[in-house]
Amino acid sequence: MSNYIPTIGLEVHVEIKSKSKLFSDSANSYGMATNTSVNVVDLGYPGTLPTINKEIIRQGIRSCKVLNCNITRKMHFDRKNYFYPDNPKNYQITQNRTPIGTDGYVEIEVDGKRKKIGISDIHIEEDTCKSAHRGNVSLLDFNRAGVPLIEIVTTPCISNGKEAMAYLNKLKELLFYANISDCKMEEGSMRCDANVSISKNENLGVRTETKNISSIHNVGLAIEKEIARQEEVLENGGTIREETRRFDDKQEETILMRVKETGNDYRYFIEPDIPYLELTDEFIEDSLKSLPLLPDALREKYANIGLSSLQIEKLINNRPLNDYFLGLLEYKIDYNKAVNLLLSDISSYLNKHNKLITETKLSYEKLVNVVNALETGELSNKNVKDLIDSLMENDKTLDELKKDFNIQNITDDSFIKEIITKVIENNSESVNDYKNGHDRALKYLMGQVMKETKGTINPKKANDMLIEVLNNN
Ligand code: ADP
Ligand code: MG
Repeated sequence: MSNYIPTIGLEVHVEIKSKSKLFSDSANSYGMATNTSVNVVDLGYPGTLPTINKEIIRQGIRSCKVLNCNITRKMHFDRKNYFYPDNPKNYQITQNRTPIGTDGYVEIEVDGKRKKIGISDIHIEEDTCKSAHRGNVSLLDFNRAGVPLIEIVTTPCISNGKEAMAYLNKLKELLFYANISDCKMEEGSMRCDANVSISKNENLGVRTETKNISSIHNVGLAIEKEIARQEEVLENGGTIREETRRFDDKQEETILMRVKETGNDYRYFIEPDIPYLELTDEFIEDSLKSLPLLPDALREKYANIGLSSLQIEKLINNRPLNDYFLGLLEYKIDYNKAVNLLLSDISSYLNKHNKLITETKLSYEKLVNVVNALETGELSNKNVKDLIDSLMENDKTLDELKKDFNIQNITDDSFIKEIITKVIENNSESVNDYKNGHDRALKYLMGQVMKETKGTINPKKANDMLIEVLNNN
């Protein structure tokens, strides 16, 4: 065991969902054909002026709330000056001195232990255009230029890769549920740079910054590899330099990109083309109104109605089903049964047909009827499996479907009894086995009963009745 203490701080960029870009009215949508969502502002033409998109400020306010940050009331934007082909203005508009959010935290749980990950600040900034290098040419896609980002910076308080992954998962869950961002690392709507240092005492060591990490899993891996690399360097008498590295996911190691020779000089100054903003109470309150229930609040709510933690996590992991289920809470039904149905037969159907539940004909009324029918035994699980396509695809009521499928009133005791009597008459050998204490015989008889009824009766009820009849036989 090494006696170095690792310290990690993460800088995360997420693309904010909005109709248009941060300072222009080009569409902010991922996946459009290259260079089709671009205008003169995005291209940095001389003489054009940025206009602030209010919706992004609202999203920034929501981010602050969700990440427990103080909201800066009076703020401005800053110019970060640098030359690079992805940045035709030669500066990026960001928030340096007055980030919209400060001093927040996100709570994570790792190995049963809770920990607050400090967030030093959140700032709003514009994305640069995207470059792609093909042989000896470089191509630029300006669709991304001016796309709104929030950068979320943690304090150096993360201790290992596992914590970093837990933090990113939590961040993703929060921002996704708050409708702030998709947070898809694979599509670049969430990007993470990992600052890593190690030290033998409380003073932080010299850090490296690892970029280009393609997944949350790889963030954890990159951090562990970088910690190990730094330990090896120090153990061999070397020193750690401030440098920028990248993660190579094939070789699973961090690779030097550049050494930070001198401190960056971005010559920040206040962006003169955008007025100072002062957020009023009304504007803040109004922006927060649209925040839906967030996962931790959902967890509490669902635990209170008796869902298991497995059911809860599965629901929360499936946003469309979760949103649908929230609407179902208006009805008084057995929620466990409802969730099980949503997570089993209904999910299988949706996955198979690649549909969202809102794209099907499964109204709340119909689902409520199904859940209640399962409860009374009017429907068996097998019936639901047979009916599922029709339930999802047509407008007929449950009663109409039951007729179509010739599903008998299987709570009808006399009907079940009739079948049981028949089975007992035809299987006297098994009946004797049962009486001689062979449990397998009961299973066999029960199988015959289900076979006779083609699985249309409630198995529990039939089983109880079968035992009763056998014992009185
Ligand atoms: P910069 O100005 O270079 O962006 P910041 O002070 O804003 O640097 O820090 C960037 C990130 O690096 C933050 O997430 C911070 O927590 C982290 N960080 C700073 N110093 C260290 C260190 N010694 N070890 C690990 N992480 C660090
Ligand atoms: Mg910084």
